[in-house]
Amino acid sequence: MLDQLVSDCNALDKALAGQELSFDDGMELMNYDNLHVLGAAADHIRKKLVGNQVSFTASYYMNYTNVCAASCQMCAFYRKEGDEDAYTLSPEQIQQRVGIAKQMGATEVHIVGGFHPKLGLDYYEDMMRAIKKNHPDLKIKALTAAEIFFISKLTKNSIKEILSRLKDAGLDSMPGGGAELFHPEIRPKIARGKCTGQEWLDTIEEAHNLGIKSNVTMLYGHIEKQEHVIDHLLKIRELQKRTRGFITLIPLKFSLDNTELEQEHLVNSECSSVYDLKITAVSRLMLANVLNNISVYWVAYGKKLAQVALSNGGSDLVGTAFSEEVYRAAGKPTASSIHDLEVMVKEIGRDPVQRDTFFNVLNKF
Ligand code: SF4
Repeated sequence: MLDQLVSDCNALDKALAGQELSFDDGMELMNYDNLHVLGAAADHIRKKLVGNQVSFTASYYMNYTNVCAASCQMCAFYRKEGDEDAYTLSPEQIQQRVGIAKQMGATEVHIVGGFHPKLGLDYYEDMMRAIKKNHPDLKIKALTAAEIFFISKLTKNSIKEILSRLKDAGLDSMPGGGAELFHPEIRPKIARGKCTGQEWLDTIEEAHNLGIKSNVTMLYGHIEKQEHVIDHLLKIRELQKRTRGFITLIPLKFSLDNTELEQEHLVNSECSSVYDLKITAVSRLMLANVLNNISVYWVAYGKKLAQVALSNGGSDLVGTAFSEEVYRAAGKPTASSIHDLEVMVKEIGRDPVQRDTFFNVLNKF
């Protein structure tokens, strides 16, 4: 039945036949208006790759600072030094929070912040050493490729040197943030002061080559064009073919409130749910041969839309966000628990599994 339905879309036929999709194929998918068929095809491929399970991890999100030398137009989180609500966590505060995370059942800490102009490499090394000393089994997923690139410029150490030292200090993996959209036409319009797309890719490739796996994100739903989305997915695919270092893709829906893009009236409303689902499905179809996991960031979608996204190619829920200052700054809900995620998955007839950072199954429910 799926075969009959997709006969009007060459790219979908190719995807279902297991062929690699080109840029033009990607554009055909973005312009294809039968969302039901698109979603069904993506779901079909999801099923072949990961079966009926939906995974999630117990992750504790911690932002060590909101002070940032950049001023991305899509960001509601950053502050400048001296701002009333600017903060940087002390080593003691970090240890206290990590201790709470452990008590809450977290198996990993997800640590990101702004580009702090005064923190040296020793701040990050000390942070990781102290976490590992007190909680050796807790996985540290920390510092985006954009942060690593900034620290490299600030400290005048090579990216390889920084990553090697952080790995020695306890860094297990890296989050996918800062990827935004790689295309040079759009990136400066949403991420002023951040590294270029190519610099992000080069930095993460260095990490992968050192054995540090990572996630990768894609920020959509602002002022991008369809070709920027496809370009982003193709660049992820090309790097993944070389390193196999990406663990999952997390499409991130642009959150409007309190951002410069909103204040300048460049974006007046968040994108539609139809576009959210199209992004999930197209991500699955474009990356089908190189990446098993497409994550659904339920914090931005809400639980009901997240359930639909899981039926349009998504296979993982990110995450058990015990704390998430970035989305809170833009007025999003954050509280969740493993039980909530389990219920969310069971409600759509799928099998919930708790995973670790690297998608090893820890618990079935
Ligand atoms: S997105 Fe990150 S780099 Fe950009 S302003 Fe916000 S905290 Fe800074």
